Amino acid sequence: MPPKKKSAYTVPKLKDFSAAALDEAVQNLLAAVVREAGEVKNELEWKTFRDRWMARANGFLTQVNTLWLKAAPKDAKRDVGQRVNEVKKRVDETIAAALASMQSTASTSQLDTERVDITLPGNRRPLGAEHPVIKTMNEVVRVFRNLGYSVEEGPEIETDYYNFEALNFSPNHPARDTQDTLFIANQESKPLRERLLLRTHTSPVQIRTMEKMKPPLRVVCPGKVHRNDALDATHSPIFHQIEGLAVDTNITFCDLKGTLDHAMKEMFGSSVRTRFYPSFFPFTEPSADVQISCIFCGGRGYRDGGPCRNCKASGWIELLGCGMVDPNVYGFVDYDAKKVSGFAFGMGVERIAILKYGVDDIQLFFNGDVRFLQQFA
Ligand SMILES: [Zn+2]
Repeated sequence: MPPKKKSAYTVPKLKDFSAAALDEAVQNLLAAVVREAGEVKNELEWKTFRDRWMARANGFLTQVNTLWLKAAPKDAKRDVGQRVNEVKKRVDETIAAALASMQSTASTSQLDTERVDITLPGNRRPLGAEHPVIKTMNEVVRVFRNLGYSVEEGPEIETDYYNFEALNFSPNHPARDTQDTLFIANQESKPLRERLLLRTHTSPVQIRTMEKMKPPLRVVCPGKVHRNDALDATHSPIFHQIEGLAVDTNITFCDLKGTLDHAMKEMFGSSVRTRFYPSFFPFTEPSADVQISCIFCGGRGYRDGGPCRNCKASGWIELLGCGMVDPNVYGFVDYDAKKVSGFAFGMGVERIAILKYGVDDIQLFFNGDVRFLQQFA
C-alpha cells in the first residue's frame, strides 16, 4: 500500500474576521482542495483525500466549522456562516469531480490493458492421435471384423476359474505360480477357483462369451493382460492381446489355417507366407505356433550382404499361437463336443507393433515419451 499523502494545507485560526481576511482564508482553502484533487490517481488516493476533507471527526470542513464559524464574534457570524456554506459546497463539488475524472482515466487504462491484438498468432491446441499399440490393435480387429467376427470384452480382474480352470489348466499347472501370475493378496481362505487375479491372457473372454452365446459364433477379444514379468526390451508386466474364437459345426484345422493365413496377408502384405508348428496349450488340441515369413528379408534369411538380424537368419518370425478348441473346454460351457468344433488363436499386440514399426524396445510403448509417440501421429 502506498504511504498516505499528507496535506500541505492546515485550516488556520482566524484572529481577524474582516471581509478581506475571510476572502484570503477562503481562497487559500479552495486553492488547496483543487490542488489536492489534481493529485488523485486511484480510488485509494481518492478515499484518503475525501476523508481528509470531509471526515466528521477531524476533517478540514469540520475544522472550518470549529475554527471559523464557532469562533466568530456574534456580529460576524452571519457573514462567516454564508462563507462557510459556500466553501462546503465548493469542496463537495471538487471531490465529486475528482472521483469522476479518476474513474474515466481508469476505464481508459483498463481498455488499454484489455486490448486484443487480432494479429497475434492464436493458441494452438495440439491434436491427439492413436497410440501405436491401440492403432495396431484396431487394425487387427478390423481385419477380423471384415471376416464377420464381432468384438467381445471382459474384465481385467478375473477369477482363477475363468483364467485357468475353465480353460482346462490342471489344478497344479505352473502358470498359476505367483512368479507368472499376479494374484490379489490375502485370498488364502477362498477356494482356488474363486481367487482373484489380474488376467494373464484374454482367453477368459472366450469362456464368458460361450457362456452367454450359442454356436455358431465368431469373436475377437482385444484387451490388456498382466504377467509377473520384469521389464526388459522384449517383456513388460502389462501388454495387450487379441484372442479369436470361432465355433460352429464342421470347423476344421483347414479353416484355422486359411483364416490366419488370410489375416497375416492383410496385416503384413500379400507376399507374406505362414507355416504352422506343433505346440501345446491347455485349451486347444491340437495346438500350433504360427510363423510368418520374415518381413524384413522377404523370408530369405539374409539381407544387406549378411544374415538377417530380425529372423536370426531363419527366414521366419514366430507370431502367434492357435489350435482347435479342446473338447474339455466345451464341457465347462454346456456345448455339445460331439456336435460342434472350433478354433482359437491369440497374439500379442506389442509384438505386432514392434514388427510393423521397427521398434526395438517394448518399453518405448509405455514410457509416454511424446518424441517417440509423435512419430505415429
Ligand atoms: Zn529376416
